[in-house]
Amino acid sequence: MRIIAIANQKGGCGKTTTSVNLAVAFARRGYRVLIVDIDPQAHATLGLGCNPEELDISIYEPLTNTQTPISKAVRRTYISGVSLVPSNILLSGAEIELAALFRRECVLRQQLAELDDIYDVCFIDCSPSLGILTLNALVASGEVLIPVQAHYYALEGLKQLLETINIVKERFNRDLEILGVLLTFVEGRTLLSRDVQRQLRDFFGELVFNTVIHRNVRLAEAPSAGESVITYDETSRGAIEYMQLAEEVSDGKTKKRTTQESLIDF
Ligand code: ADP
Ligand code: MG
Repeated sequence: MRIIAIANQKGGCGKTTTSVNLAVAFARRGYRVLIVDIDPQAHATLGLGCNPEELDISIYEPLTNTQTPISKAVRRTYISGVSLVPSNILLSGAEIELAALFRRECVLRQQLAELDDIYDVCFIDCSPSLGILTLNALVASGEVLIPVQAHYYALEGLKQLLETINIVKERFNRDLEILGVLLTFVEGRTLLSRDVQRQLRDFFGELVFNTVIHRNVRLAEAPSAGESVITYDETSRGAIEYMQLAEEVSDGKTKKRTTQESLIDF
């Protein structure tokens, strides 16, 4: 299973939108997809039509009690091929509870090992912090995708994120790679957008995805309907761009299962 963390400690840069829509786009391409919502705000959970307040079990239990297998928290979504480990507000207490656990950075990694053969790809929607939850996501992942909102201070804060990624690589997860940097909220052909793109390309070079995500009202509307933009309005620019991104991200890198393991049902 390929595991991709969607991370940036800045809020509102498109992490959840990218997690949900990439997941759905991958499912459309025939992959078996898992989304892990590790943000106490539970926006990915809500965005996939699941009410965080009605959950018997969420990511909270397997993270804070290693006796609870993560498979117990997996649920199907209304989208064929996409399963979800939901989050809820309980998770906001997990930072403190995790602090007492042995190898607290590695809990999610150990939990996800159980699902390795069941999904082709897993997206982890991170919270806007660089605390223990995001650390767990980075330690569990093979790759990290960084959404960056197109504005003048786009590069601000990225240094801290890159330092965190380096620390994770040195101490916990040598294999972690930056999959790419995704420019979001791009406004037409404005000078600002072009400037920010140039800055990002100067800094990250080839790591910046060719696909950029433009500001698109459908992307903002879809979550309130509890939907991905791809199911909400397949013809919208947002849907088309996330499908394009899935093509760029999946090319040659994601293995599809040929067996019927996908029929395993939690
Ligand atoms: P994060 O998870 O990083 O906090 P979100 O993905 O939740 O960011 O995006 C923040 C808000 O902006 C949400 O309301 C979302 O629906 C909206 N949004 C995200 N991407 C776009 C876009 N390209 N165009 C318009 N609205 C967007
Ligand atoms: Mg979010």
